[in-house]
Amino acid sequence: MTQIHDVIIIGSGPAGYTAAIYAARANLKPLIFEGALESGGALMNTTEVENYPGFPEGIDGPDLMANMRAQAERFGAELITDDVTAVDLTGEIKIVKDSDDVEYRAKAVILAMGSGYRRLGLPDEERLSGRGVSWCATCDGAFFRDKPIAVIGGGDSAVEEATFLSRFGSKVVLVHRRDQLRASKIMADRAERDPKIEFAWNSTIESINGANSVESITLRSTLDGSLRDIEINGLFIAIGHDPRSELVQGQVDLDAAGYVLVQGRTTETNLPGVFACGDLVDHTYRQAVTAAGTGCSAALDAERYLQDFE
Ligand code: FAD
Repeated sequence: MTQIHDVIIIGSGPAGYTAAIYAARANLKPLIFEGALESGGALMNTTEVENYPGFPEGIDGPDLMANMRAQAERFGAELITDDVTAVDLTGEIKIVKDSDDVEYRAKAVILAMGSGYRRLGLPDEERLSGRGVSWCATCDGAFFRDKPIAVIGGGDSAVEEATFLSRFGSKVVLVHRRDQLRASKIMADRAERDPKIEFAWNSTIESINGANSVESITLRSTLDGSLRDIEINGLFIAIGHDPRSELVQGQVDLDAAGYVLVQGRTTETNLPGVFACGDLVDHTYRQAVTAAGTGCSAALDAERYLQDFE
């Protein structure tokens, strides 16, 4: 008979690790699936995190995540560096499968899969991915030293990426479909003062061009529809994220944008014993500390659920 765990946690960002810390300290011996390639979540792609409480001098994203992971392990969380590829969450005992189709069973499951980078949906985007097209300035910026770069987007992430990339690139063109940035004022001011950052206002991207690597992009004016090419070698796409909810689609209720729906101020989904937290449920705040906060709530909700479990 396969072992039945108390709690399985899917996802290893601030939400998943915090849920693991709380569940482990409650002696629930959580099993946490961290993901095969991207354990540690979105903060693995950033350098300094300046707004996570408790670190007055800031902390590198990967260091913060390594600390959370170590804290979860210290209290007995069992970590599995693999993806969950299928689930059946509808029964009283939940079934979770790894990439080798091995089945794990649990009384409760906490969903903490976070969100993934949004694609532009252009024909050559995947073909040139890793050949000039990137979603992570921290990971790939250094490849474009003294080369022209474009960043697509107008929110905080786009501006943060552009400002970071101006250390490397000969210039950084920030392409935005409106005539002003959506980013917070402090970030926008910083970008506007940066002599290496240029703005392509009222522009959308029509195509990414290049045989083996990115050579240029074609922009379309949102004002008069005209097209123009700009020569660049690095294209950084920063147009937001989509929740990683495909795994539970059809079982757990999602909203129109694919975020997992939770009930009121709890982390309860429509399925008893299934809880959700972090950016997977959060349209609004999307911060490490809020993800950690709801990860804590999910573990406490699961703990309460398990007290009544027959
Ligand atoms: P995530 O961090 O996205 O983690 C989800 C994890 O689950 C991933 O590791 C993923 O691989 C895993 N996963 C997904 N599906 C599966 C599966 N099927 N099986 C197993 N594992 C799976 N926030 C701040 O507060 N301060 C900052 O300075 C800051 N800077 C940022 C900089 C960048 C570049 C980015 C992208 C984000 C930044 N954020 C920042 C936002 C913050 O990173 C997120 O709000 C937070 O990481 C969300 O945590 P999460 O646990 O919900 O999800």
